[in-house]
Amino acid sequence: MNPTEHSLFTAGLGLRPPWEVVSVDFDPEARRIDLEVGLACGARFACPACGVVDQPVHDTRRRSWQHLHFFEHRAYIHASVPRVRCSGCGKTTQVTVPWARPGSGFTELFEAIVVTLCAQMPVQAVARHLGVGDDALWRVLHHYVAAARAGEDCQPRPILSG
Ligand SMILES: [Zn+2]
Repeated sequence: MNPTEHSLFTAGLGLRPPWEVVSVDFDPEARRIDLEVGLACGARFACPACGVVDQPVHDTRRRSWQHLHFFEHRAYIHASVPRVRCSGCGKTTQVTVPWARPGSGFTELFEAIVVTLCAQMPVQAVARHLGVGDDALWRVLHHYVAAARAGEDCQPRPILSG
C-alpha cells in the first residue's frame, strides 16, 4: 500500500505522532489484515515509572494485539514497543502504547466491543463470533469488572440528622 493508505489507517486508528502505520498487509485468502505501527525516528518518551519527560528509547520489544475485525477479516496490530532507561529513576520500563492497556493482547477498541457484546450475549457465543478463546474474553471481563468495582463509591453515606 502507499503512503496515503498508511495515513488513512493511521487516522483510522486515532494514532498521533510519534506513532504511525508504516505498513499494511492485506491477505484476503487468510482473511486477515496486519498493520505495522512504527515510531518516528528519534522519538522520546516520558518515563512510565516516574514521569520524567524526554527520555530516549533504550530498546524495543515485539508485541502484537488483535484489533476490531475489518468486515470479516481479522485485524492485528504489530509494533516494536520501546523501553526507556530513565535518567531520573534509573529503571528500564516499557512505554504504554496508546491503543492497548499494558499486558493485554487486544486493543482497547476490541476490548470495548467484547465488553459490549458480553453484556448482551453469552461469553462463549461472543468468543465464537470474534474467533478467540473464551478464557481470553473472561480475562478482559474480569479486568473491567474489577476496575469498575474499584471506582465504585462504597463509602457509607453520612446519616443526615434533623
Ligand atoms: Zn523514571
